[in-house]
Amino acid sequence: MVTISRFKERLRRYGKSLRLRLFVILLLVGILPLNVLKIGVLSSYEKQAVKQRADQVRSQCRLIADQLLTSGYLNGSQSDVIDSEVRMLGTLYSGRVVVLNSNFRIVLDTYGIDTDKVLIAQEVLEAFSGEETSNYNSNEQFLEVTVPVRDENTQKTSGMMIIAVPTTDIREGRREISGVINLMQIVLVLLLIGVAFYLTRLLVRPFGKVTARLENDDQFLEEDISIPDYTETQMLAEAYNRMRRRLKEQEDSRQEFVSNVSHELKTPLASMKVLADSLTTQESVPNEVYREFMTDMSSEIDRENQIINDLLSLVKMNRKSPDINIRETNINEMIDLILKRLRPIADKNNIELVLEDYKPIVAEVDETKLTLAITNLVENAIKYNKPNGWVHVSLNMDSSFFFIKVEDSGIGIPEESQPYIFERFYRVDKSHSREIGGTGLGLAITQQAVLMHHGAIRVYSKPGEGTTFTVRIPMKYQAWEEKQEDSHEADE
Ligand code: ADP
Repeated sequence: MVTISRFKERLRRYGKSLRLRLFVILLLVGILPLNVLKIGVLSSYEKQAVKQRADQVRSQCRLIADQLLTSGYLNGSQSDVIDSEVRMLGTLYSGRVVVLNSNFRIVLDTYGIDTDKVLIAQEVLEAFSGEETSNYNSNEQFLEVTVPVRDENTQKTSGMMIIAVPTTDIREGRREISGVINLMQIVLVLLLIGVAFYLTRLLVRPFGKVTARLENDDQFLEEDISIPDYTETQMLAEAYNRMRRRLKEQEDSRQEFVSNVSHELKTPLASMKVLADSLTTQESVPNEVYREFMTDMSSEIDRENQIINDLLSLVKMNRKSPDINIRETNINEMIDLILKRLRPIADKNNIELVLEDYKPIVAEVDETKLTLAITNLVENAIKYNKPNGWVHVSLNMDSSFFFIKVEDSGIGIPEESQPYIFERFYRVDKSHSREIGGTGLGLAITQQAVLMHHGAIRVYSKPGEGTTFTVRIPMKYQAWEEKQEDSHEADE
């Protein structure tokens, strides 16, 4: 059973192969012209042979016709010489010769069947008007030639000769030639099969090379490949190389992410371990020290929790088809609520937190994810601020987008760091960020949430002066599929 299904599979694969198609094309290209040539050769041979035969017969008839004219045979005078000449002509071609006088009466029929009968037919009439006709009947295998007996001086036709000769020998010759061509054809087809088999193998070999290179486990994803045998194989190789580089980048970033995650998760654990060890190794720990260490451990646990929560939010949004819960949302109320929640932290740092909203905005968004995104921005603006600083959040819109701007009077971000701040775990000042409870994931989450809404986020910052983040989100949410279809249409 297994072998049968494997055989079927191989057959199916061969049936769909480029090699079979090339093979068939080569055979057809070889065989078709051969057949056309054969038909051409045979028909031109037949035409030529019939024409030659007609010319031969006609020239002999003409000789006799001259004698018929001068001897008065057509007017009734007997001539054994002419009789026997006509009969000899009939015997020579194994055919029938009929001689007519000007009244269309048959004066001589070598078959002796129709003597004295009147014969009126199209070719007879044509011959009487001075034309020589010849008529080849390939089905019945005979050739009929008419020759007028005509005095060229007086232009008068006084009779005519009709001779019908069998052409079976011409058909025979044709058959013989056809046999030879058939034999040559068989040899040629066999040769062609061999050549096509070899050529197709040669032609598809580079594709086999591509497969072999791609299946080479040692080199998998390790180095670029090049198969310049054909433009097509080179294009395949280049497409593979591009994919390889993308995969490599993804793999590298995945590895970096995993090692960052482990590192970040280990840091609070290490602190807790130190705190716990120092408590257990000491004989009698004063109550206040015990409490202090336990408070530290609790905040390390909070930190661990924060990292895990941030990671979960990021992973959820990074998925190929993230759950997105789009609803009509009052953006003013949403921002209001965010600021209300963060106000205590701002107050604690003596930072002024102001909202400027000019118009009421209702848009289709995932409220939870967008709240998370904006919270991160405002939280950062408070965290990375100066004492007695300010944070301005403003809200605006046009016909298709709404804009959220978060401006602060904080420490700013150095120009060279700005391209990286949206990367996971990137922090300009690691120790400062950790001190104030940062995980390095906040802006990555924000960016992901904005991109899920098909929006855009930008940063403008001057170290020492402050930072501005602007977010632009479409008022109406568009699912990815629709968006991609639209862009296809635009392409077309
Ligand atoms: P974190 O949890 O460390 O705040 P984020 O991803 O939110 O991580 O931010 C990445 C880094 O960008 C921060 O560590 C900080 O150095 C810098 N950053 C973000 N927002 C601001 C801001 N408003 N002002 C100054 N620096 C900022």
